[in-house]
Amino acid sequence: MKVAKFGGSSVASATQFRKVADIVSSDVERRIVIVSAPGKRFKDDVKVTDMLIQLAQAVIDGKAYDEVLDEIVKRYAEIANELELTAGEFLAELQDDLRWKISEYRNEPCRLMDVIKASGEDHNARLMALYLQETGLEASYVSPREAGIFVTDEPGNAQILPESYEKLYQLRNRRGVLVIPGFFGYSLDGHIVTFPRGGSDISGSIVAAGVKADVYENFTDVDSIYCVNPSIIANPRKLKEITYREMRELSYSGFSVFHDEALEPVYRAGIPVCVKNTNNPAAPGTWIVAKRNHQEEPIAGIASDTGFCSINISKYLMNREIGFGRRVLQILEDEGISYEHTPSGIDNMSVILRASQLEGEKEKRILDRIQTELEVDEVNVEYGLALIMVVGEGMERTVGMAAKATTALAKANINLEMINQGSSEVSMMFGVKEEVVTNAVRALYEAYFQELPVGNSVK
Ligand code: ASP
Repeated sequence: MKVAKFGGSSVASATQFRKVADIVSSDVERRIVIVSAPGKRFKDDVKVTDMLIQLAQAVIDGKAYDEVLDEIVKRYAEIANELELTAGEFLAELQDDLRWKISEYRNEPCRLMDVIKASGEDHNARLMALYLQETGLEASYVSPREAGIFVTDEPGNAQILPESYEKLYQLRNRRGVLVIPGFFGYSLDGHIVTFPRGGSDISGSIVAAGVKADVYENFTDVDSIYCVNPSIIANPRKLKEITYREMRELSYSGFSVFHDEALEPVYRAGIPVCVKNTNNPAAPGTWIVAKRNHQEEPIAGIASDTGFCSINISKYLMNREIGFGRRVLQILEDEGISYEHTPSGIDNMSVILRASQLEGEKEKRILDRIQTELEVDEVNVEYGLALIMVVGEGMERTVGMAAKATTALAKANINLEMINQGSSEVSMMFGVKEEVVTNAVRALYEAYFQELPVGNSVK
């Protein structure tokens, strides 16, 4: 049995719906389909999820919202009309549902935002089920509640509850193709709660693990995963295979093709993932597996992301002070801040985090607390940092991997702000100023990939 998840661009228009129907009907193993909300049809298009957020925000701010609501309904109507579906009832229900949610949750902004956001996927799954039926498939819409996707009650940040898996397994007994909306589940007391943005990948992975699928297929709009962002390097190597650990590191640090939280359920269940292109389903795609066959390439990919900052702390004899690091991190925990890395020296320590977390008064509060409670010699925040991750399982057994990077960066005249390698040796992190990150990634790509044989890459 295969679970196939179709991302926003794969379900953005009638043309894309037709491609999905062809893909689903071409393989009887594709029994469960997870869909996103309609995404972008062209570069500057707006995703339905973003329109829904705009709608909820207008209600919360007490502003007019009829126009955006009509736009949302129009997006679905266009798809339905072009598919020549008799969708009058579906469209009326969509309108009523959005208006009902607005009146029901008006005074609970957090809930309102979540239920409205989730409706993008919900209605798209209903529409997809209608269309698949129309093409002659035995298909039905299954709500996440009926399927058994139970989650923690954290709006916009739901986490799956373990009891879901047993219920999900029962989906195996159902007939036909089941269409389940991605992106949300239900709390135990019946509230709709969404995963983080891009969370339909997470839904697909949970369902695949729950039904113990043979494969989790993740349909998107690229033929395969590239070893580096193609907007930085033209035509980079396409990967045949990548391990769960490599993918997790890469997607966390900038690869947008797969949500970084989505791997856990399939990884634990040992289910291989195949990332495929809805627009070119014949291409082999990229396999995400426990162990790659092509081990001749120590590095799988290079990812980068901007928008980080570093809180730099120094204090003479810091190394002698028991509990120093814990107290710094406690201050961050008190402020609800998560951190990425903590490179340190004997008398200094840095904490790298996403700069957006220090908005408003937080920065001053944190620096004041570190200064007074830990009596440090100096504490400051450095903004404008980019992190680059060089990721690969083979790094552990290959000598000279770090030297290759530092030599390449030095040759490109790039100053390294910091270096970090965890004990797993699956990745190396380099911190550079944001303005040089593109050049740094290019230099690293040349150093690691330019001279490699074809090996793990698809031509
Ligand atoms: N529609 C949601 C988003 O845009 C979830 C998803 O597509 O995975 O974030």
